[in-house]
Amino acid sequence: MNLILLGPPGSGKGTQALKLSKQFGFKHISIGDVLRSNVEDRTDLGLSAKKFMQNGDLVPDDVIIGMVESSFKTYLSPESNLTKIIFDGFPRTKSQAISLDSKIQAFGLRLISVVFLDVPDSVVQDRLISRGRDDDSPELVSNRLRVYKDLTEPLLEYYKTKGILTKIDGDRSPDIVFSNLVDMIELKVK
Ligand code: AMP
Repeated sequence: MNLILLGPPGSGKGTQALKLSKQFGFKHISIGDVLRSNVEDRTDLGLSAKKFMQNGDLVPDDVIIGMVESSFKTYLSPESNLTKIIFDGFPRTKSQAISLDSKIQAFGLRLISVVFLDVPDSVVQDRLISRGRDDDSPELVSNRLRVYKDLTEPLLEYYKTKGILTKIDGDRSPDIVFSNLVDMIELKVK
């Protein structure tokens, strides 16, 4: 089974993706992490993504879709034996979701479950500001939340209509959220 973690910035997607990868052997694909390491290494991709990230905006879809396609090619080669991927922070727009749908078919992947980590705005704001990443300043956090609401939140309806969305209350301790996720996955793979 492949999994998408959806939720606002600061909802715990990265933390939970790491824990789930350890427990179940998912390959963790975090677009944010790949982008940040490209910015650090000053690659062409990093140089073009930097200004969007610094403003708390999304990197354009064609760049992101190209990145995901190349990681699919890397991880899904016939020798890779990979059956489980966890997408953390992707898709974030409708066109990314549509592109992912067609890639899933093309690469013959198994069912995708989408988990929405539901956390109120005031809680994610506090979490992000105390996390202190470069893009976690109060102004950027407000913009990132606005971008999330405008472009990413509509995906909840998109996946709900497909019948593959599970909502989990993310406003609890990481261990409790994790045990909910484990229960959900074990139920689905039965
Ligand atoms: P994250 O680590 O997931 O919070 O992502 C940090 C930043 O990377 C975001 O604010 C965006 O600028 C960029 N980013 C990450 N994932 C995506 C995506 N799927 N589409 C567009 N931009 C993204």
